[in-house]
Amino acid sequence: MKLIPTTSNNQPKTKKKMNLFDVYPLYDITPVKALDCTITDKNGVEYLDLYSGHGVISIGHTQPDYVAKLKNQLDNLGFYSNAIQNPLQVELAEKLGKLSGCEEYSLFLCSSGAEANENALKLASFHNGKSRVIAFDNSFHGRTSAAVAVTDNKKIVAPINAQQVVTFLPLNNLDLVETELKKGDVTAVIIEGIQGVGGLDEGTAEFFQGLEKLCAQYEAVLILDEVQSGYGRSGKFFAFQHHNIKPDVITLAKGMGNGFPIGGILISPKFTASHGLLGTTFGGSHLSCAAGIAVLDVIEKQKLIDNVNDVYAYFLEAIKQVPEVVKVKGKGLMLGVEFDFEVGPLRKKLIVEKLIFTGSANNKKLLRILPPLTIKKEAIDTFIVALKESLAELKA
Ligand code: PLP
Repeated sequence: MKLIPTTSNNQPKTKKKMNLFDVYPLYDITPVKALDCTITDKNGVEYLDLYSGHGVISIGHTQPDYVAKLKNQLDNLGFYSNAIQNPLQVELAEKLGKLSGCEEYSLFLCSSGAEANENALKLASFHNGKSRVIAFDNSFHGRTSAAVAVTDNKKIVAPINAQQVVTFLPLNNLDLVETELKKGDVTAVIIEGIQGVGGLDEGTAEFFQGLEKLCAQYEAVLILDEVQSGYGRSGKFFAFQHHNIKPDVITLAKGMGNGFPIGGILISPKFTASHGLLGTTFGGSHLSCAAGIAVLDVIEKQKLIDNVNDVYAYFLEAIKQVPEVVKVKGKGLMLGVEFDFEVGPLRKKLIVEKLIFTGSANNKKLLRILPPLTIKKEAIDTFIVALKESLAELKA
């Protein structure tokens, strides 16, 4: 019999190390450094970042003013709870109001996109006392309880989340929305400015305007999820601003902190705040506000939204050189390039051989392009050459 050494509590003494809970399929690439739109891996290989780590990097990796502001804030005060005065939160709200043109809204700060949507849905339900939500086919709103329930992906909805009552409708059918709203039990309609992971579909201006009108008529809250499409990515500060509407609640995250976890909700004046209604430990920390302020300062100083529009126009022209492209979906630097075949092997070739990061979507025929908002036209040229070469090589 083989003796296994034991510890004092009689457990076998095995040399184990803690593993990561294996939920992410990983590319075999280890980035260690990044600057603007370039990522360098541990072997010194440089990649062009056309995906911003799921649309998070807005002002470019390691932007010097951003880094300096965060370092300085960390030297002074990184965190204290939401029980003291924090002038950085006030500064962030003022700058955000001014740059987005949404001064009349108030800001509640949290730490992620799901948390922003969770709070938005909760706020709606507190406000009108109702609980059913209308969401749209192919939507993605996050993985917390209410946020995942309004996400159209059964695989990530656990039984505990399934108790929320949600009705999924197709985009751009106002009659169906009205039929549901008429039943009187709908607390909120939640919609992405432009769908992200779903595959870059979006409502028409007429649809968004109809939603605004119907929500007001039937006392439901219109929540615009701008977690991915906000912060200039669509060519306006918020994607809904292409449609001339004013939602009741706007949710933010991703580009807001350029990689620092910060999210928020903008709340229209029709809602009344009361102490304790919403809350979080980490949301609005000094360090996260420093990140949020630095991002807004750089967006403004470098006129990044103008750059988004310039590069978008350039991209639309340049992509015409690639006849295999069936369609370009989305707006600004939130784009989906559609083919008539599944793009898995193409995306892999682009990253492994051409050293370009792009993204995937639920729509398997779509390559997602979400570069930092600082991207230059030359990078688009690089992408087009790589795309043409890759398509030719895959055909050969
Ligand atoms: N909403 C949208 C539109 C998103 O794209 C995402 C994330 O991809 C979320 C919400 C959830 O954000 P987070 O992953 O920060 O919780």
